[in-house]
Amino acid sequence: MALKSTNPLFRVFTSYSNLPRVEKAEGNYIYSEGKRFLDLTGGGTSYAILGWNNEEVNSAIRRQLAKFTHMDYKIWDDPNTLELAELVLGSGLSSLKKFYFAGNSGAEACEAAMKMCRQAHLSKGQSRKKWFISRKQSYHGSTADALALGDRPNLEIFRDMLSPYRKHVEMHHFKKLALVGESEEAYADRCARELEETIAAIGPENVAGFVGETIMGGLVGDVPPVGNYWRKMKDVCNKYDVHLILDEVYCGTGSTGKYFCFEYDLIEPDFVFIGKTLAAGYGALSAVITTDSIYDAIASSPDARLQHTTTHQAHSLSVSAAIAVQRIIRADGFLGSVHEKGKLFQEGFSEHLHSNSYIVDIRGRGLRFSIEHSIPVVKQIEFGQFFEKLMRQEHSILVNAKWHRICFTPPLTLTSTEIDESVSKISYELNRHLPQFASIGAV
Ligand code: PMP
Repeated sequence: MALKSTNPLFRVFTSYSNLPRVEKAEGNYIYSEGKRFLDLTGGGTSYAILGWNNEEVNSAIRRQLAKFTHMDYKIWDDPNTLELAELVLGSGLSSLKKFYFAGNSGAEACEAAMKMCRQAHLSKGQSRKKWFISRKQSYHGSTADALALGDRPNLEIFRDMLSPYRKHVEMHHFKKLALVGESEEAYADRCARELEETIAAIGPENVAGFVGETIMGGLVGDVPPVGNYWRKMKDVCNKYDVHLILDEVYCGTGSTGKYFCFEYDLIEPDFVFIGKTLAAGYGALSAVITTDSIYDAIASSPDARLQHTTTHQAHSLSVSAAIAVQRIIRADGFLGSVHEKGKLFQEGFSEHLHSNSYIVDIRGRGLRFSIEHSIPVVKQIEFGQFFEKLMRQEHSILVNAKWHRICFTPPLTLTSTEIDESVSKISYELNRHLPQFASIGAV
């Protein structure tokens, strides 16, 4: 634990120390200590999908600033809220038609979705439905109920104060968890069976929702599900009137090359919640999207109101920023370009690293992808720190190399030259250094 400043009048309580000072950020680059760095981490936590200082977004914020900074959407009607909802919903979804401004963070959106799910069941007389099933190795935020769904060892100290009505099933990860000789279809069937057995063990009358990230995100390293995984999980949910709630805080709004990541899986959930990529760091904004039938169920309940509220919900400046961000993402050809850039990266890495026997996998969707390596667990922290520092000092590139993978969440605005250069520099260093670290005790 450290205090960021030695000035006793201004001290920031933080668990992070010795951080580099940021001077400015522009386009796909962050400037610090007189140097500029190409950022492949999306601001460190994958939110900066349009980089920084984007003039279209900045001028939208400036126009909004001249009008008003924030008006509580519960008191005043701001037409921008409808414009953003329409942009995000687009025209391609068949059942997801209702947009709810949840708050500022992904965690708030997660909890808003859980509350909406509970309220929709209550309105149909299903008062016992209070259990939520989620998956191992997941993260949905750090407020209490989002935390209760997650599975992070460092956060287990809080477990005793969280809701007991939560249960985990296995994450999806075919390459890691498939049985010998098991086909993708049989694996997906087994996952669906596990969910069904878990619902049966709790009692279907008690289970409200099943929550999962569409791809296993940054923590596990961008693992897409096998072909029919989500369809089969959704079928189980439908059978027992359990709502499927997808978390696209990390992989939503175009970052995978489709607007919603679940479009790859040819399903629509009952809820999807989004956050960090919605205003892309130009504001703080999160939302839940759901179906007409969930909306109607809640609207027909005696009090006809969602029991969720925060002061800066639909924050007007953030909404104005998000409109500009989402207009760029919704513009013709943009998603196709994200898909192409993801391909350029992944194919480039496959080519440069094809003979590196320490590479386990290169996988992901669009510009949410990871390289997994086989460095032993005891060396992973050391390697991650070494590699991040090496790329930063020698090549002025910022990468996220924690644990067993190098995870890429760059701005979607990266150019093909930046991609080519990044691929060859990162591959060069991986080919040089992975062998050393992969043999325990060699470094
Ligand atoms: N869900 C996922 C998949 C996330 O990656 C995150 C943030 N890393 C969250 C939820 C929580 O979002 P926030 O930090 O904005 O609360």
